[in-house]
Amino acid sequence: MSDSAFHYADGVLHVEGVSAASLAEQFGTPLYVYSRDALTRAYRAYADACAGRKAKIHVAIKANSNLAVLNVFARMGAGFDIVSAGELARVIAAGGRAEDTVFSGVGKSAAEMREALQLGVKCFNVESIPELHVLNHVAKALGKKAPVSLRVNPDVGPKTHPYISTGLKANKFGVAFSDARATYAQAHAMDNLEVVGTGCHIGSQITEISPYLDALDKVLELVEQIEADGMHIHHVDVGGGLGITYNDETPPDIGEFVKTLLDHIKKPGHGQREVYFEPGRSLVGNAGALLTRVEYLKPGEEKNFAIVDAAMNDLARPAMYEAFHRIVPVVERRDVKTQTYDVVGPVCESGDWLGRDRDLTVGQGDLLAICSAGAYGFTMSSNYNTRPRAAEVMVNGARARVVRKREEVKQLFAGESVMPD
Ligand SMILES: *Cc1c(COP(=O)(O)O)cnc(C)c1O
Repeated sequence: MSDSAFHYADGVLHVEGVSAASLAEQFGTPLYVYSRDALTRAYRAYADACAGRKAKIHVAIKANSNLAVLNVFARMGAGFDIVSAGELARVIAAGGRAEDTVFSGVGKSAAEMREALQLGVKCFNVESIPELHVLNHVAKALGKKAPVSLRVNPDVGPKTHPYISTGLKANKFGVAFSDARATYAQAHAMDNLEVVGTGCHIGSQITEISPYLDALDKVLELVEQIEADGMHIHHVDVGGGLGITYNDETPPDIGEFVKTLLDHIKKPGHGQREVYFEPGRSLVGNAGALLTRVEYLKPGEEKNFAIVDAAMNDLARPAMYEAFHRIVPVVERRDVKTQTYDVVGPVCESGDWLGRDRDLTVGQGDLLAICSAGAYGFTMSSNYNTRPRAAEVMVNGARARVVRKREEVKQLFAGESVMPD
């Protein structure tokens, strides 16, 4: 959890100045709670480390796209990284600007490109040659030139960096490094495209700097080649992916990470280039928690279960990635025995678990906080088992505000109808 936004006072977990118990009481559970201060401080850490350099932070909104969260960043001057036309609509609804937005993703549709071009996004991060052709075609029909950057796949070694999941040859993302120069030449030759940059995004939850530096070395080598081919590379996009502490990970702090990368790009000939960052998790992950209530304690021969009212539909990461989230009691108590539990939800799947083998001092009806749930939490939630999605609350000092209402069951099938006969 972040330094001080989530902390205990008199044995009760607080989010800034508000007791998490009172939030659960007032707004019900499961409940996502975000600290505005934690969001602000994480963004500032990026922005402060960029001071004096041409650099821009584009918040990767797939990690958390609540309008209130985006608005906090927009007010601080952030740009945004989107992966769909829907996300672009959210950016604009939240007070962000298309001209500060970069459009990433391996499968943009022509309709999405059209919308993004009309609204005036700053750059398309293109991932394949067929995509270049479609974008060129769409831009031509609109009488525009589309700004493009290729997302190159630097193929930083799986042996040295086993935790990297998207910067390898064997996955669907990016243009292979060995094809990048030729692909740039093709883009350059298309009438309705304008090459403006290059970049990569090598993975997520990365806890060391060295793979970024390895990737950057390859990207900068490419920049020199494509500039020799007559293109001007205005920006280098280093992507996102910086990890956070869920349990005992020790990622570099944001300031150190940013400064190290910026220094690396100072190399002769590159210092004047604008540097784009696309952080997601590291801005929002530890700024949020998911509050849940224990419905039942179910002792067993091999396992004890704490069955809670949050489930895999609310927080999919444990079920999807076997991800670890710390789980802590909202109100500390000493009057019950500490036992080892699997914390599970009510969904009818064995995969519906939130934490395994956790020592917890809890009773039936108690509240738990699932920590570090601000990234890829609500945004990956679903209505599986016809469960309304949780409410989201943002805390600012002593105040709390609902920034997304809890869904109602009738909303869940409002668009459905039965056959007429
Ligand atoms: C998901 C994503 C990000 C953000 O990744 P984090 O690990 O959340 O920082 C940035 N850029 C692209 C292209 C992405 O797909």
